[in-house]
This record gives sequence, C-alpha cells and structure tokens, in this order.
Amino acid sequence: MVVDPGCRDHDPGAEIWIGVTTAPADVAERVTVIEAALGELGHPTTPAREYDDTWLTAVHSAELLDYLATVWDRWVAGGYPDLGAGRVVPYLFPSAQLCQGLPPRTPTALHAEVGVYCYDTMTLIGPGSWRAIRAATHTTRTAVDLVVAGAPGAYALTRPPGHHATRSAYGGSCYLNNAAIAAQALREHDFAKVAVIDIDAHHGNGTQAIFYERADVFTTSVHVDPAAGWFPHHVGFADETGRDGGLGANLNLPLTPGSGDAPWLAAIERAADAAAGFGAAALVIALGVDAAIDDPESPLQVSIEGYHRAGEVLGALGLPTVAVQEGGYHLPTLGHLVGATLDGLG
Ligand SMILES: [Zn+2]
Repeated sequence: MVVDPGCRDHDPGAEIWIGVTTAPADVAERVTVIEAALGELGHPTTPAREYDDTWLTAVHSAELLDYLATVWDRWVAGGYPDLGAGRVVPYLFPSAQLCQGLPPRTPTALHAEVGVYCYDTMTLIGPGSWRAIRAATHTTRTAVDLVVAGAPGAYALTRPPGHHATRSAYGGSCYLNNAAIAAQALREHDFAKVAVIDIDAHHGNGTQAIFYERADVFTTSVHVDPAAGWFPHHVGFADETGRDGGLGANLNLPLTPGSGDAPWLAAIERAADAAAGFGAAALVIALGVDAAIDDPESPLQVSIEGYHRAGEVLGALGLPTVAVQEGGYHLPTLGHLVGATLDGLG
C-alpha cells in the first residue's frame, strides 16, 4: 500500500446538500482505518514519492490545476472567512441556460469564479485541501511506478477520492482524478491499452469524461442507477458508449438500488470480460467500497464476501494492476472491505 500522510490534511468542514449543511463523509480517519486494517493483514507500506505537477496536465486543464493550487489563499485574501465562509464554496454556476451560447467570461469576483470549476455544493476546499489533493496524486503516481518496475499490483491509499473530477471541473467530493492519472501514467509507460474498472457505488463520471473520445483507455463503471435518483444524476447511463475515436470504449453498468451481491458481481464480471475483450495491457481499479451494506452513501447492499469475490474476478484478468481508493465511508467496516478486495485480487 502506498501512503502519504498529506492525504489527511484535507478537511472539507461540511457538505451542503439541498441547502442543508451536514458533516462531511470524507474524513481523515478514513485513511487511518484503512491503513490500520491493511497493516494487520500484513500489507507493507510504501511512502509516496514527490513528483512535480507538469505531468498532471495530460489529464486536467492548466486552469483547474492553477485554480486548485491558489484558491484557498485567494479566498482568505478576499476576506471570505471574515464573512463566515470558512470554506471555498460556490453559489452560482455558469449553466448553458444562463450563458445562452455567449463566449465564456472569467468573472471578476472569486465567489463567482468558484462555480466555473466546482459543479456542486458538496465539495468544499479548506486550508489543507491542496496539500491532500497533491498527496493523493503522488500516492497514485508512486503506485504506478511500482507496477512499471514489475510489481504485479499496487494499491494507492488516496484521499480525497477522484473519480468524479473531470478534465476541468471538480465535484462529488473529488478534486483531481487519481484513477485517470493512473491510467494516463500507465499509457505513458508503454502499456498500449489500459482499462479502468470503477466499482465505486457511484458512476465514475469524471473518468468517463476524460477518456470519452479516446480509443486507448477503456472505461467501465458499475454503479447505482442515476435514473433511480442517485449522484451524478445527469450521466452514468447504459447508452453512453464513447464518442468519435472512443466510440465503444465506455461501458456503464447501472444497478437497481438494493441489488445485493449477485447482480453487482455479474456486472463486475461483465466489466472484466469487456476489459479483456478490449485488449487491455494494464488495469486501474477505481476501488470504492461504498456499495457495502453498512455504507451510508449508497443503497447497493454488497457484502464483504462480495468484495472479496470482486477482487478475485478482477485479479483473474492477470493484468498489472493499480488500485486507487475512491469512496467508502462506514468507518468500522471500511478497512476490512478494502482488505477483502485486495485479498481477492491476490
Ligand atoms: Zn461513491
């Protein structure tokens, strides 16, 4: 397991959902319980190495990277905490209906600029957020380098998660897309084709968006059906199959709430078969464990035995594999769920 203590530095402070301020689901203790559980299982710890940010621009826009790196300091300099805004949070979004096809402008006011990059009200930024966001990318990149050096697999204990972040926008408690960063880094290390299999309970919309027009990275996601009223609501449907050169290189497998193990595992087997059919030379697993029975963030009702079996299914592909931590929020079971999955992977 690759770890970076900086991943604990992000404290979103709150989530704002339908105007209600609630405690954040993504707490630093998630890292602590996963690290402890994997340590008990005998997984050795590898400290993340530091990388510069230049290689991130293959996945994310320079504007988003610059915004994330600077927004907290600008927020403080702008006096927003003195107004009671202790975190960076948007209030206005430049939707197509607002802008009517006019050329996009960069608003003068920072409190309006936030909505250019952040697409929901649940994904706040505080003083340590950028350190943690970068630490998660370092963790990811270090795991990739272990696999490039010949390890059959590596697990990146990333926090905050990443799979909801698109090329130029963040949301869904995600800021930079670690799974996409892993896939791109594997591509740059001569793995000709890479598959991303996302087993987080929610659709990996950011990863899908980043590779939607590319034929060299296959993206597939097993998740609760957005049509049943679940995040990300607007995307994640079965008829989204890629565009232009990427046509056929995206597979969405939405599931009915309350599915339980059997349909979830059948979908993961289908995703694995598709990755094999694609001819993937390496695999990235977006390893969310929030489909679990006890998790407060999804209704999929998957057991810990189901997670172990999912690991076996994905491990049977026999591909060099980078597993990146995504969601999973039930602290008493979180570490054991990750451990069961990695044990299944072998
Ligand atoms: Zn999730």
